[in-house]
Amino acid sequence: MKIENLMRENIRSLKPYTSARDSFLEGILLDANENGFGSVWDEYEMLNRYPDPNHGELRKVTGELFGIDPKNLFFGVGSDEIIDLLIRVFCIPACDKVMITTPSYGMYEVACDVNDVKVTTIELDDSLQLDVDAMLDRVDDKTKIIFICSPNNPTGNLIHTQDILKLCNETESIVVVDEAYIDFCEENSLIHEVKNHENLVVTRTFSKAWGMAGLRCGFCVANEMIVETLYKVKAPYNLNMLTQHGAIKAVKNNRKRDEFIKNIISEREKLINELENTEGVIKVYPSDANFIIFQVKEPDHVYEVLVQKGVIIRNRSRMPKIKGCLRVTVGNNEENKIFMEELKRIL
Ligand code: PMP
Repeated sequence: MKIENLMRENIRSLKPYTSARDSFLEGILLDANENGFGSVWDEYEMLNRYPDPNHGELRKVTGELFGIDPKNLFFGVGSDEIIDLLIRVFCIPACDKVMITTPSYGMYEVACDVNDVKVTTIELDDSLQLDVDAMLDRVDDKTKIIFICSPNNPTGNLIHTQDILKLCNETESIVVVDEAYIDFCEENSLIHEVKNHENLVVTRTFSKAWGMAGLRCGFCVANEMIVETLYKVKAPYNLNMLTQHGAIKAVKNNRKRDEFIKNIISEREKLINELENTEGVIKVYPSDANFIIFQVKEPDHVYEVLVQKGVIIRNRSRMPKIKGCLRVTVGNNEENKIFMEELKRIL
């Protein structure tokens, strides 16, 4: 398979814009019409300059942390930007298709709708895993991307690696694995499989385990040619300077992430145990992520009363395979306590 052939013709032949900071980051910088006197935000004098469009330092430190060559790393404004960019690179509007599974993260379909790209939806099987045969059956030469979320949002379970790799091996599509929640079971990450499968793209984010959702930073590990193309297509200065600094700081402070993960997993197991022992909770699903879905008889009512009490969770009760389910994020100790108290009162 030639990855290049999967890309839109206009993207393949695109002559990218060369921004001033592509060429020079240091010197007497009189090339970008910036303000040489400084910035009006006193604490951040350096904001008068445009940021590094190639995310050099961030790619270097992230590459070192994960054991990935910086050439295989692309950074975006959250993984949401990367989802959109991948669709724009590979899918011709009103012609090509994307395959998604359901239930899963809603943004894949929205990003397709925005780009006028058709969506083929395949339900997960009863154990909330991929129905690989159904997927292979429905993939055709217009299916340019298959999105898989693992651990899956909103079901919380990891997707079997062998099924994902089977799709990589047996299709001519780009297989995007969204690993937003993989930090909670990192040994299952597929980032190191990218070198074995040129059509595999793995997305990650700083928004969950790292505790930096407000930073808006995500990245993907992909074949060098895909990374180069994403850098050509993105807005020249997609990641602002504060975001790049923040993400570099995060990567260098990864021990704190590990601590967060330990605490969140411990809180998750406590919550699962409590939910299982709560009258009125019909089923609690196991979780490999930082959220839990559980089934109740009257999900709308439970959801509404919780909102009235100021406890906000997600109502996922109408999604296929998880009818009647609510999704709660594992919060801190105090948040979880209040949630459980209110839930028990309602049920
Ligand atoms: N993927 C999944 C599965 C998510 O649940 C989310 C956010 N809820 C995202 C991606 C978006 O993450 P980011 O903040 O990196 O854009």
